[in-house]
Formats: sequence, C-alpha cells, structure tokens
Amino acid sequence: MIDFNIAPFVGTETDYIREAVANKMICGDGPFTKRCHAWMRERFDVQKVLLTTSGTSALEMAALLCDLEPGDEVILPSFTFSSTANAFVLAGARLVFTDVRPDTMNIDEGKIEAAITDRTRAICVVHYAGVACEMDAIVEIAQRHGLKVVEDAAQGVMSAYKGRALGTIGDFGCFSFHETKNYSMGEGGAFLTNDMSCAERAEILREKGTDRSKFLRGQVDKYTWQDYGSSYLPSDINAAYLWAQLEKADGINENRLVSWNAYDAALRPLAERGLVELPTIPVNCVHNAHMYWLKAADLDERTRLIAHLKARGVQATFHYIPLHSAPAGLKFGRFDGEDEFTTRESNRLLRLPMYYNLAKDDLLRVVDAIYEFYGVSR
Ligand SMILES: *Cc1c(COP(=O)(O)O)cnc(C)c1O
Repeated sequence: MIDFNIAPFVGTETDYIREAVANKMICGDGPFTKRCHAWMRERFDVQKVLLTTSGTSALEMAALLCDLEPGDEVILPSFTFSSTANAFVLAGARLVFTDVRPDTMNIDEGKIEAAITDRTRAICVVHYAGVACEMDAIVEIAQRHGLKVVEDAAQGVMSAYKGRALGTIGDFGCFSFHETKNYSMGEGGAFLTNDMSCAERAEILREKGTDRSKFLRGQVDKYTWQDYGSSYLPSDINAAYLWAQLEKADGINENRLVSWNAYDAALRPLAERGLVELPTIPVNCVHNAHMYWLKAADLDERTRLIAHLKARGVQATFHYIPLHSAPAGLKFGRFDGEDEFTTRESNRLLRLPMYYNLAKDDLLRVVDAIYEFYGVSR
C-alpha cells in the first residue's frame, strides 16, 4: 500500500526529546521552544513567533486579536478546513464565504471586494497546498477598507510570495505542525506577527491571560491575570521533535519538491491531452510542495479514479467539502456572490500520496495507475 501521508521523521527527534526530558523543563517555553522561535524569526524574517498547540489554536489567537464584536463579519474561502472558520465563529463573527480560483484553489482576490459590508472586519486567506494567494491585491483591498488580514498558512511553511515568507505578510500568520504537514511536532502550530503592538497581547492570550512570558524574561517580578486568554503553548517535548525537523528544513523541502516535480512532469502529457487538470504555481510564488493534486472531469470520474487507485494499492483522497454547504456553514455564515468554482472544482480535486522520502518507484506506481485508468500508455 502506498500511503497518502507518512509523518516526517529525520532521525534526531528521539535524541532531542530525550534531551528535553533531561532538561527537566517539559512544560512550554523551554529551551527547544526558544530555539524554534529564534530559527523561525530569522528564517522567515518576522518579529514575533509563538509556538502553539495546533494550527487551530494559532488561528484562534489571530481571530481573538481581530477584536471582533457580535455581528462583525469575516471574509474567507469556503474551500478550507473547519478550523479556519471555527476560529472566527468562536471569536463571535459571522462568516462570509467567497469563491476560489480554479487554478490554485485559493480565494479569488477579484471577488473579495464585492463581499465587503460595513460590518466586515477581517479577511482570512488560506494558502492552499502551500501556494500563495495574491497577497498584494488582498493587502491593498484590506488597507483601503481598514480590515485585518489573517493568513492561514497551515500548509505554507517555507513557501514565499515575492520573496516574503507566507504567514508574515498579513497582520497575523498561522502555521500548522500537525503530522500531515511538511514539518511536524505531532500536534502543534505557530502564531506569527510583525505587529509588535499585538505581540504582548498574543503572549498573554497564549499564557492563560497572564503576563508569565514577561515574568520568564525577568521583566516583572510576579505574574498576574491581565486579560482573557487560554492555554495555547505546547510542551517542550513537542518542540524538541519540531526542532529536529527545522534543522533539516531545507533537506525536507528539497526532497518534497523533487517528488512534486516528478509528478508534474509525469502527468503533464495527460493534462496536454485534456484528460486531467494539474496545479498552477503563480510566478510570484515559491512553493513548498505541500501537496500534489489533479482534477478529474467530474465527481463521478474522481470517485472511479479513487477506487481504481485503491485497488492498485494507492491511497489518494479528495479534500474539503465546501464549508458553506455544511451544517455549521449554513448556521454561521453565507456565501457571497455566485458559487462558480468552489463546489464544482472541489468535487473534481484528488490529492496524490505526498510525504518526505516518498520513494521514486512508489511515485511512478501512482503515475502508472493513473495512466492505466485513462487508458493511455506512458
Ligand atoms: C491543517 C490545517 C489547519 C489546522 O491545523 P491543526 O494543526 O491541525 O490544528 C487549519 N487550516 C488549514 C488550511 C490546514 O490545512
């Protein structure tokens, strides 16, 4: 069986976890967390990074920092994971879903402005498959209307837009280090911002509403309850696992890109014959090979292709059921404008096995099985 995903593992994780335990500082913000923070600040050229217990909790922090009031609206794509939406619902907002572009499956920047009302407070973009949204256009719209921009860069760690790391372009950025992502700590994530006026509140939110972070830096002699907050900081044991992966971040990235490019080259002939559609990487984007997807003709063909691949030992999977059509989406939001692409394109999309150290032979078995399905020889 060729798995859809295998959690990344470089070999040094267990040594670092042992070291974290020996440090006798297994709670949050220990030495490994500090190393991860410093590495990401430097690598992604961003002022504040806070490891979190998940990508979901990083999104919750971002949503809380948008200072939403009941009735306020947040614009986001419908083609995303529930966490993107939950964060804003929990923060009290109404959701306004907009359509995606079929080439990247990212929010269509051209359809955002029409969705803005006098209650709109934020735009949350999702860099699907680690491919950048059109951030210049989105930030320009946001600035003109006085809106916050949150980047759900859960899939975008190590990707860039015009030379800037995804997650560092909007007001707040959110990474995920779940085991299905390019870099992992089991469960985990990170919150990023260049807005130092929010950095202190972010620390307080993450530390149960207290200024313990300041206390740990010796800036106050005792810590007290400052504001509302939660517990969003991960154990240093998890950070130790992540540190092993960040040390090898370039190697992991290159390895995934080799697989991504191999899929792309091998499947291009099918696309040229009009049998499938393949992802587009916009010129402004350097991507991280988070995912390789293709689009079948329609839902029926995709269902048959999944079954065909399964029978040949290949695990390929569809992705999001558009949120606006889900029970919670109906309850908490509305779709603005026409659903031109979201439903139709999500019905066609299929994700192929993709992980660190995917064997070339396995990748070619996946490709062969797809060619066999379409009755074309390679
Ligand atoms: C994975 C993911 C999340 C959630 O991250 P967790 O770490 O699993 O909480 C949120 N948004 C998107 C787009 C994701 O892919």
